[in-house]
Amino acid sequence: MHSSNQQTCTPLHEGAAFADIIIDISHEKVDRPFQYRIPEALREAVTIGCCVSVPFGRGNTPRKGYVTGISDRAQIEEDRIKDITGPAEEEESVEHAMIRLAAWMRECYGGTMIQALKTVLPAHKKMKSLEQRAVRLTLPREEAQALLAEYIRKHHLARARLIEALLQTADGVLPYPLVTGKLHIAAANIRALKEKGILAVDTTSVYRNPVTERVRNAAEEERKRLSDEQSHVVKDMMARFAKGDLRPSLVHGITGSGKTEVYICLIEEMVQRGRQAIVLIPEIALTYQTLLRFYRHFGDRVSVMNSTLSPGEKYDQFRRAREGEIDVMIGPRSALFTPFQNLGLIIIDEEHELTYKSETAPRYHARETAIERARLTEGKAMVLLGSATPSLEAYTAAKKGAYQLYTLTKRLTGGTLARVRIADLRAELKAGNRSPFSRDLTLLLDDRLTRGEQAMLFLNRRGLHSFLSCRSCGHVFRCPHCDVSLTEHRGGRLVCHYCGHTEASVRSCPSCGSHYVSAFKAGTQQMEEQLKKQFPGARVLRMDADTTRTKNSYEEILSAFADYKADVLVGTQMIVKGHDFPLVTLVGVLAADLSLHDQDFRAAERTFQLLTQAAGRAGRGERPGEVVIQTYEPEHYAILAAAAQDYDRFYEEEMLYRSLLKYPPAAHMLAVFLFSPSEEAALTFAGKLRMRLEEAEREEAEEKRALLIGPTPARISFVEDVYRFALYLKHADMEQLVRLRTILEAEEVPANVSIQFDSDPMRTL
Ligand code: ADP
Ligand code: ZN
Ligand code: ZN
Repeated sequence: MHSSNQQTCTPLHEGAAFADIIIDISHEKVDRPFQYRIPEALREAVTIGCCVSVPFGRGNTPRKGYVTGISDRAQIEEDRIKDITGPAEEEESVEHAMIRLAAWMRECYGGTMIQALKTVLPAHKKMKSLEQRAVRLTLPREEAQALLAEYIRKHHLARARLIEALLQTADGVLPYPLVTGKLHIAAANIRALKEKGILAVDTTSVYRNPVTERVRNAAEEERKRLSDEQSHVVKDMMARFAKGDLRPSLVHGITGSGKTEVYICLIEEMVQRGRQAIVLIPEIALTYQTLLRFYRHFGDRVSVMNSTLSPGEKYDQFRRAREGEIDVMIGPRSALFTPFQNLGLIIIDEEHELTYKSETAPRYHARETAIERARLTEGKAMVLLGSATPSLEAYTAAKKGAYQLYTLTKRLTGGTLARVRIADLRAELKAGNRSPFSRDLTLLLDDRLTRGEQAMLFLNRRGLHSFLSCRSCGHVFRCPHCDVSLTEHRGGRLVCHYCGHTEASVRSCPSCGSHYVSAFKAGTQQMEEQLKKQFPGARVLRMDADTTRTKNSYEEILSAFADYKADVLVGTQMIVKGHDFPLVTLVGVLAADLSLHDQDFRAAERTFQLLTQAAGRAGRGERPGEVVIQTYEPEHYAILAAAAQDYDRFYEEEMLYRSLLKYPPAAHMLAVFLFSPSEEAALTFAGKLRMRLEEAEREEAEEKRALLIGPTPARISFVEDVYRFALYLKHADMEQLVRLRTILEAEEVPANVSIQFDSDPMRTL
């Protein structure tokens, strides 16, 4: 999983005699691998990912197939299994590497080989290519003129109209849709003229290009002269590339320190060496800005990939990549599987983001998977991670020397880091202020509106979760065993979703006695309304899950804000990342506590990241910026470190806590999720798994035993009529957790229960 023990994940199959083979590698066909026998002579040669030739079908036609699995057990009667004929004569291609990557993913993250294959083999479903048709005059002009006169005389008005229109063009060509549309010529008429040899219909196939007009019209950008810090990264990485030191690299650079500029430069170096690059971004909302920057340098050699594309658009982008028509692919974690034949660099921007972990099986992490994909190129590709607030995982690896660390410390925009102040919401309540905006924030907002500058207000909230806290003193109800916040359940019971710890309902605060104890709930919509009420003249834009349902809505909202069509942008965390708005001089974090008490062991890390990033949005231009962080817990280390913009201070404190409670990256953790419409079935099976684990652990030496927690109801324990439970296993050594997972995978799962594994989860269910 982690680069240190990656080798242990490579499957070994001694004495194996059968191979699973997919005949045609395409997304839908992987459902049906066929089993073949590996003849003695080929035992060495046949490995996962390799291409072999096999007899197929009744006629035993020789076909090419890819090996996706090897086992020593026959799935059908042995005498019905055919032999592999031999290795296919085929050069190593990107498909081989992808199948090997799938095998690695299966081994590391659990799930089935089919799930893994479907993840790495992108929409391969053959899509009809997009065609453009045009009508072309084939007669010499004089003859056409004569024909036109004849049609007019005979009152063939439609035909006359078409010939006349064609004669008016310089080259005698008109787009087909224009002919049938605007000119109202029936297809039958066109066909008739075609048969007479008067005109031809030409068809050319074109790629669907998802890059919008707005982006394409952007002017080319001049190369910036890199700062010393920036050029050190580029030079050092390329020197390491040349001498084969392919350890992953981490750029830790404050917001605005020029990381993106470094990415562009590195990709240019790679392109000069005939290699291609993948740039991962954490979310769709960032596509427009990122694409714009890259398009200005690489033009049509760059493309994008994401879930808003139609299947045809997706298919075309992968085809362009495979055929070497583009050099750069930008997209979310799934863009990792872009079939570049000569991959040289994978960049993961904002590598700390949660979205880099897949939420469906195989629950892979893009960071680890990118490193493995690069490793599979055998010394031809590197991975670069970038962040202003690196994940504890990446920073720990860099400290140990497993990654090469680079630091960018200076802002290149000329701006300085914003001034941050913390607003204590407890004090606001005492002073009688019940508005969601503290007095500080209100004053500053007023000031920005008068000065014609912009502000961003940000609500770091995800999902439906709400935690319980005291509004007078800020006390938060936490689990004594896990140090995560408790959730209020029906009837007021408080439950911990890591260990199942339960407390009776509370009426008053154990810390100050106040009765003003309630669940913290707030939404962007309420904020928008409140804002309009308090500042009637302000032009407000809102960006959240509701306002970004349609295809180009991100682009529209962001460019409207950039064009100063609004004074304030209110939104969820999607507004804090990466955007560069020079007029923004104020950022307000409305309730830092929302993410702080997200009952997850990564909550403090998440909060620190969000606050740091939010702070980075202010003062990107010439004018200095200010940030207000509103919170009930002004002395929390994550908030203090964020206000001081001190990453190392946060890292030290947080690692201490992770070590004490054995959370990643101080230890490894395997989550086992169980889903069932029957609560009883899920619980019974969970209990059985727990027993099975205990049995297995009794036989093991003490140092190999894992810490077992649960079963416990998941954070959201009942969704869409399905009950969700979790078991957590912790151990310093990932191998021990893989051993236990294998034991659990061998258990027969009841029909109405489903099971999923998550290694080193990014968030709890
Ligand atoms: P990051 O990705 O670290 O937030 P960017 O690469 O977006 O930083 O750079 C921040 C700003 O600084 C951008 O406006 C960019 O154009 C500018 N910039 C980056 N590198 C340089 C440079 N070497 N000289 C001048 N301006 C630069
Ligand atoms: Zn209290
Ligand atoms: Zn607990």
